[in-house]
Amino acid sequence: TADTAYKALDASSLPSRLGTLPELSERVGPDPDEWEVVEVGDGNLNLVFIVSGPAGRVIVKQALPYVRLVGDSWPLPLYRAYFEHHALTRQAGRDAGAVPEIFHFDREQALIVMEFLSPHVILRHKLIAGERVTGLAQTLGRFCSRTAFRGSELSMASSDKKADVALFAGNVAIPAITEALVFTDPYFDAEMNNHTPGLEPVIAGLRDDVALKVRVQQALQRFVSNTETMLHGDLHSGSIMATGDEARIIDPEFAQYGPMGFDIGMLFANFLMAYFSQPAHRGEDLEEYQDWILDVIETTAAVFEEEFRNLWKTERTGILYPASLFEDQGQDSTPACDAVLTGLWRDAWAVCGIEMHRRCLSLAHNADFEGIEDPARRAPLEARNLAMGARLIHTAEDIGSVAEVTAMARGFN
Ligand code: ADP
Ligand code: MG
Ligand code: MG
Ligand code: MG
Repeated sequence: TADTAYKALDASSLPSRLGTLPELSERVGPDPDEWEVVEVGDGNLNLVFIVSGPAGRVIVKQALPYVRLVGDSWPLPLYRAYFEHHALTRQAGRDAGAVPEIFHFDREQALIVMEFLSPHVILRHKLIAGERVTGLAQTLGRFCSRTAFRGSELSMASSDKKADVALFAGNVAIPAITEALVFTDPYFDAEMNNHTPGLEPVIAGLRDDVALKVRVQQALQRFVSNTETMLHGDLHSGSIMATGDEARIIDPEFAQYGPMGFDIGMLFANFLMAYFSQPAHRGEDLEEYQDWILDVIETTAAVFEEEFRNLWKTERTGILYPASLFEDQGQDSTPACDAVLTGLWRDAWAVCGIEMHRRCLSLAHNADFEGIEDPARRAPLEARNLAMGARLIHTAEDIGSVAEVTAMARGFN
């Protein structure tokens, strides 16, 4: 009907449109005339409002029927809010406390009312400002490990897993964005690409490298056809909010089933881009802060592995690598876990390199580099990042430990 049909909210209409929702009035205040609404969306896609009142504050996130970054020339289905809602619910179940609490979901209006994270700020801003977050690696390593393991047939009943894969298979528009912008556009002259002047020879080198493009396509094939686990799908430093000693993960609207190494690979790319951009953002503390970033990568990987091995021992309740084949026959299944992790890291390092490429070459760049005003300053830093990305893609299956990756970063810096 006309009054339930989707309509984008704005700050002035929000109180009258959502004022009777108990989930809001309980948390913000009973009189919507007293609510204060500010639109704070800084992402590429959606509207995000902070709604404040005498009782407290909540976030209202609403999908737009197009890509905000580009405009209504690029339509994008509203149903993505439905998948974001389901993803948040699953993540909350698999890693309690890692994501904002959901208070209300309206499918028709494509909106989610959720916990307002405060005084958290976007991690990317902290990395640009040179701030540290205590416990960051623990939170991120555990989140990636628990969501990877608990969303897979290592843990889930086969029937539940299939039902969930079927559900998320309905989210076709969002994966198409990743397939194009992340995996494909950087390697040809795609219409929406942009890059810093001066990088042309580096870009030509990547496009001349047939072996590299084959490897990227192999990673894409695994991304589109492998449904190992439910991914966050967009786990960059702009999808993490933190204080000085707590981190939370937001914005899983790119959730889809895919390879277990995808999220942590994308995450590490964003730390590496923060690392390579630091010479433009830091002064005397440059070396110390760059070391901290690499330490976060190393510790995140260690926490990830430790948690994965722990879950392997304690929660291996799915159809994969059952105890009947190993422990029940008096055998140790550690070699099987090693093999799963080897495949996972191979996927992660390839995705890491690809993400390092696409953030400098295709549509959506990141502020770590974009915030460097002088292109002559920016280009050489991006060139280091692109070169390391190519090395990661070429050597993904040969990388034996995260220490090899941080050593590689120091070599390119
Ligand atoms: P998009 O999908 O458009 O990228 P995000 O979910 O990333 O939207 O949200 C955009 C911005 O809104 C974030 O960068 C953050 O500043 C703010 N934001 C989103 N969710 C919350 C939250 N739960 N608490 C506080 N701020 C939030
Ligand atoms: Mg976002
Ligand atoms: Mg740029
Ligand atoms: Mg988003």
